[in-house]
Amino acid sequence: MADFKHCSLILECAKCEIINYLDPFTFWFFEGKVKCAGCGAIWALKLDNGVRVSGPTEAKAPHDKLPGYAQSKDYKTKITDTTKVNPPVMARADFVGKPIPIRKSIRGKPVSGGPLKPEDLVGSRPRFIMEGRDY
Ligand SMILES: [Zn+2]
Repeated sequence: MADFKHCSLILECAKCEIINYLDPFTFWFFEGKVKCAGCGAIWALKLDNGVRVSGPTEAKAPHDKLPGYAQSKDYKTKITDTTKVNPPVMARADFVGKPIPIRKSIRGKPVSGGPLKPEDLVGSRPRFIMEGRDY
């Protein structure tokens, strides 16, 4: 078995020495071509259960995926440009930067999952929940 450097999710480009991180969420099982974020070289590789089983071997465009993140060997140059690396994976695909207000739980019970005004409160409790009605 090869050493860690040659079987991990970390792909060091043989041309420009940029370290490409193949994020585990999308590369755990992968067979295809990755484009180096540093120089744009295309590398074919195969990962099985998070372990690189073949590659990197030089290949031709088009690539299948971009790395999740990349940086130089001295850690000074960080590549986060989303034309060169994948945008970060969000917990929710529909996330827009703000929480989505909810007034009912998944079981249909009233919940206070949104902004309230002072007049909506009785003490610190939402009035509609105190009164047992829908918002
Ligand atoms: Zn490169």
